[in-house]
Amino acid sequence: MAVKCSEITKVIEAVAPRNLAESWDNVGLQIGSFQKRVKKVLLTLDVTEAVVREAVMEKADMIIAHHPFIFNGIKSICTDELKGKIVAELIRNDISLYVAHTNLDKAELGLNDYIAKTLGIEKRQPLDPSDEDKLYKIVVYVPVDYTDKIVEVMGDSGAGFIGNYSHCTYRTVGQGTFKPLEGTDPFIGEEGEVATVKEDRVETIIDGKMMKTLIQKLKKVHPYEEMAYDLYPLENGLLLNQNGLGKIGTLKEAMAPDAFIEHVKKALNLSHVRVAGNEPAKVKKVALCTGSGAEFIGLAKVKKADVYITGDLKYHDAQRAAENNLWVIDAGHFGTEKMVVGLLKNLLRENVNDPEIEYVRSNFNEDFMRYY
Ligand SMILES: [Zn+2]
Repeated sequence: MAVKCSEITKVIEAVAPRNLAESWDNVGLQIGSFQKRVKKVLLTLDVTEAVVREAVMEKADMIIAHHPFIFNGIKSICTDELKGKIVAELIRNDISLYVAHTNLDKAELGLNDYIAKTLGIEKRQPLDPSDEDKLYKIVVYVPVDYTDKIVEVMGDSGAGFIGNYSHCTYRTVGQGTFKPLEGTDPFIGEEGEVATVKEDRVETIIDGKMMKTLIQKLKKVHPYEEMAYDLYPLENGLLLNQNGLGKIGTLKEAMAPDAFIEHVKKALNLSHVRVAGNEPAKVKKVALCTGSGAEFIGLAKVKKADVYITGDLKYHDAQRAAENNLWVIDAGHFGTEKMVVGLLKNLLRENVNDPEIEYVRSNFNEDFMRYY
C-alpha cells in the first residue's frame, strides 16, 4: 500500500524541521490530509494555476512546493478568483499541498547547502547562523515507571535530535525526596511526611524554540503535581547545529572571475546572470544566499568572500556592493531556487520507504521574470 502523506512530510522535516522557519513564514501541510495515500508527487518552486493543472493531468496525489501558496492567510475561497479557484481545484482532485520554505533554506543540509554543493563549494558554513539554534539541556526527574513515557514525549516532540539520530536521551537512577505540604494531593507519599522515591534523571537536548511546548507536554504525562526539572543553556549549539541562511565556503581551486561566471551559469543552468561591484583578482571564497539575499552583502564582505551570489538585486543593492568593494552575482530568485526540486527528489527517493512512489519535477513552473 502506498505511503501516507505524513511519512513523506516526516522525511522532509527530519532535514528541515518546521520550527526552523522564520516567524513570518507559513510552512507545512497547507491543503489536504496527512492520512492521504500518495503514489505520485509533483515537485515545484511555486504553486501556480499551470502547476496545479499539471498536477491534475499527471494524477499527482501531492504537490510539494518551496514558496508558500497560502502566505498571509485566506479570507475567502471564492472560485471566481484565482486563489480560490486553485484551492477548489486541489480539493476537488484530492491533491495535498505541502510547503517547505525558510525551514528548508536554513537547514544545514537544505537548499543553500544543495546549491553551494552544486557550485563545488567546500567547507560549507552558514553565512548567517540561526539564533534559534541556541540549545538547552532539559533534565526531568521522574518515577522510574514513567520514564519511558517521558522519553517518548521528548523524542516525538523533536527533542534529542543530534545529527541523524532522534530520541537521544540519557538517564541515571537516583533517589528523590519530598515532603507534601498541607493541602497537597501527592501522587506518592503522605501529607506532612518525607517520602523517598526511586527516580530517573532523564536528560536531553532541545532547541530554545520548542522549550515551552515541550515543558507543557511533559507536565501532562508526568505523574507529579509539580514536575521537577532543570534547564541549562548550552554553548555547543552551533557546533551541533549548522543551520542558518546562506552558505560560505571555498572552491577547491581558485578561478578567474570570467571563468567563475561561466561556471555559475553552467552549474545552475542559466542563460545569463547580472553582476555588480568590483571583480576580485581571483575567486576562491564564495558566499551565497538563494532567493532574495541582498541584505547579506555586508555580511559576505565582513566574512571576506571574494564573491557573493544571490537573487533579486535592486539598483541600490548594486551600489552598496560597489561601495563595499564586493563582487556580487545576481543569478535571479528563480535561478538560485529552481533546483529545489532536485534537492527534494533526491531527499525523498533516498528516504521514503516506498520504491514505487513517483517524483515528478514540474515542467510548468516558470520564472515570473523573462529576459530578452
Ligand atoms: Zn524564494
